[in-house]
Amino acid sequence: MKRVILMLAMVVLGGCMSRNAVDTKEADIVIKNGTVLTMNGEREVISEGVVVVKGNRIVEVGGADLAKEYSTKEVVDADGGIIMPGMINTHTHVSMTVFRSLADDVPDRLTRYIFPLENMMVSKEMSYLGALHGSIEMAKGGVTTMVDMYLYEESAAEAVKEIGLRGIMTQNIIKYPTADGKDGAAKIELAKEFIEKYRNDELITPGFGPHAPHTVTKEDLEIIRDLSKEYNLPVSMHVAETQKEFDKFKAEYGMTPVEYLDSIGLLNERFIAAHSIFVTDSDIELMKKRDVGVAHNMVANIKSAKGVSPALKMHDEGLRVGLGTDGPMSGNTLDIIGQMGYVAKVHKLANKDRSVMPPLKVVEMATIGGARAIHREDELGSLEKGKLADVVIVETKSANMVPIYNPYSALVYSANASNVDTVIVNGRVVVRGKELITYDERKSREMMKEFSERVEKIAETL
Ligand SMILES: [Zn+2]
Repeated sequence: MKRVILMLAMVVLGGCMSRNAVDTKEADIVIKNGTVLTMNGEREVISEGVVVVKGNRIVEVGGADLAKEYSTKEVVDADGGIIMPGMINTHTHVSMTVFRSLADDVPDRLTRYIFPLENMMVSKEMSYLGALHGSIEMAKGGVTTMVDMYLYEESAAEAVKEIGLRGIMTQNIIKYPTADGKDGAAKIELAKEFIEKYRNDELITPGFGPHAPHTVTKEDLEIIRDLSKEYNLPVSMHVAETQKEFDKFKAEYGMTPVEYLDSIGLLNERFIAAHSIFVTDSDIELMKKRDVGVAHNMVANIKSAKGVSPALKMHDEGLRVGLGTDGPMSGNTLDIIGQMGYVAKVHKLANKDRSVMPPLKVVEMATIGGARAIHREDELGSLEKGKLADVVIVETKSANMVPIYNPYSALVYSANASNVDTVIVNGRVVVRGKELITYDERKSREMMKEFSERVEKIAETL
């Protein structure tokens, strides 16, 4: 009899336990009390929304009641802020933070300062330090994924991973001798070593970064084309950035830079074209047909007075267009919020039509557009069930954010990077209450100060 009662008790208890497990589902992070810009297919906006994270994935997105369905390790109260997908910086050279603000607007800056300084000062340590510092800036500005290209890219990748960001890190390949190799072949070898180490990494996707059509030999471009196919890894490259480059290819090959790259077979779904300012209508058609991604770097392009890329036309014609900052010597800042206002305003001005670039379109480019540009829209760029948990909260309490009648408008025209309050990458909180929690920011600042004093001494002699 006693035994039966005990068994009955166990059955009842067991029943209760399994019912509980159904009633409250388990989560790691529940984000609540904010306006959720899902950026899903319907561009759904949920006021008083909730985003549920388990492990490194988003498991559910919905209204306020959703929070009650979960028992969670951590609740993040958005405090009325804007909850949005992590922003994607589709083109940068993060390690160059060490040279930021040096000789801005000097006409022969590239040959007088950048190349000599890079030859004298670039090392694995410099690549790491610059990337560490730049990643801190990006994290605190709401960038969760970057596409990078630089020398000693493996060292930059180490830093990006240490801060906790996602990176498509492409080893720079250029025909000239640089600190990390005497020619293109040496740098292709570096890329292969880096790829072997990082190809299965959760946050870092290694790849190839041929510098530009005119700075890499055709033979090296062919090797890169084959290797990128063999490894199924991305290629990022500056394309049609200057009038000079466009004219050179027309004169030498009777082709535009885009047509030249296509004749080699480089343009495909693994290719991310940075800039693409000097492109013809038929180039745009070709880029769409080849399904390439485009990194639109508005601020860097207007700072250097190069021109306005037809990125709006590309976006409207269905190309995969994301936003990029370019390196911190070109655009100085590395956050994407700082790009958005310029993207809206300059395209409107260039078209003399204020209706061509509504804020929603700009936020699309910063999030799901960036994910499409890197062909990762299945797992990044929007807040949807099953996607990777890269989430940003932008606070709406600072004076510049009050009042808000339209959240997209507030992000594009009112916000700045310092409004970013919380950043989650791959399900891990990287920034909380505007503070980086994955690294001691003071330490990186001190290292940067010491390095920049050395840069300054050398720059005085150039
Ligand atoms: Zn660049």
